[in-house]
Amino acid sequence: QAKEKGRNQYRFFNENLHRQLQTYVQFSREMPRALDAGEFILQYQPQLDLTSSRVVSVEALLRWEHPNKGLVSPDAFISVAEETGFIVSLGRWVLEEACLTIREMAALGFDDVRVAINLSSRQFRDPQLLSMIQQTIAEFEINPANLELEITESLLMQDVEVAIETLQALQHLGVTVAIDDFGIGYSSFNYLKTLPVDVLKIDREFIKDIPDHQDDMEITAAIISMAHRLSMRVVAEGIETKAQHQFLAEQSCDVGQGFLFSQPLNFPELLSFLCRELGEE
Ligand code: C2E
Ligand code: MG
Ligand code: MG
Ligand code: MG
Repeated sequence: QAKEKGRNQYRFFNENLHRQLQTYVQFSREMPRALDAGEFILQYQPQLDLTSSRVVSVEALLRWEHPNKGLVSPDAFISVAEETGFIVSLGRWVLEEACLTIREMAALGFDDVRVAINLSSRQFRDPQLLSMIQQTIAEFEINPANLELEITESLLMQDVEVAIETLQALQHLGVTVAIDDFGIGYSSFNYLKTLPVDVLKIDREFIKDIPDHQDDMEITAAIISMAHRLSMRVVAEGIETKAQHQFLAEQSCDVGQGFLFSQPLNFPELLSFLCRELGEE
């Protein structure tokens, strides 16, 4: 029986691996064509100031409108794009699309709303990154402060010295820099003070069990006050309940993002969200 079980486990593992390989091969082949065919889209999730309830920024989240798989989430294809190097082309498209959105929003009077994009490891290490961002900002004639770049804490920890230099150069361009998924990357608080960043995003992992888990509430409160002491703005990710919202507001967290306020929206839906907000004032 043990042998039988072992065989089944082996087969399960094997089928799983096979499926993963198939997806990898299929996606890596299809992605360049998909980009040309316009199958990638950005959705925008509002980030609200927790005091005024106004939208201060939106996070651009990539999706793939796959012809027969439906809407594919980034968790399924970003790692493949990262592995094959296609992320560099895809990331350039994301940047240009975000700049277009910044320009269109500014033209409609929403010139104080930032657009945040996510950068992966390969993009962050790309020697062309800085010149590409600089050129794109100039080409689209946007205010660099309206562009925010999210870089995960774990990525920044990989090579601290180099990361600091790149972050400084990015700040020099005038763009806003945010640490994404903060708290799960094991960085020491001491080290954080050396990082030139404007925004710290607390990972959803710490938010999801508020108010049931006392330790998560204490960690969250500590992260907020530490970030404020380092003059960083704090964004809480993944707010789904009023209790979480209330706790974060009480702790003076600056900004909130999550399904409680809005799902990620297509651009036209984002515009109605922003207009509705204006109507309520
Ligand atoms: P992330 O940057 O941490 O983005 C936040 C994720 O949390 C998004 O998932 C968002 O839809 C989800 N989320 C937002 N509010 C809530 C909530 O209240 N509850 C829950 N359960 N989830 C919430 P999504 O869109 O599937 O993106 C997953 C990850 O893919 C992102 O995590 C980011 O690391 C990566 N990603 C997305 N777009 C891009 C991109 O353009 N380039 C790169 N390199 N990575 C991207
Ligand atoms: Mg992000
Ligand atoms: Mg995040
Ligand atoms: Mg995350």
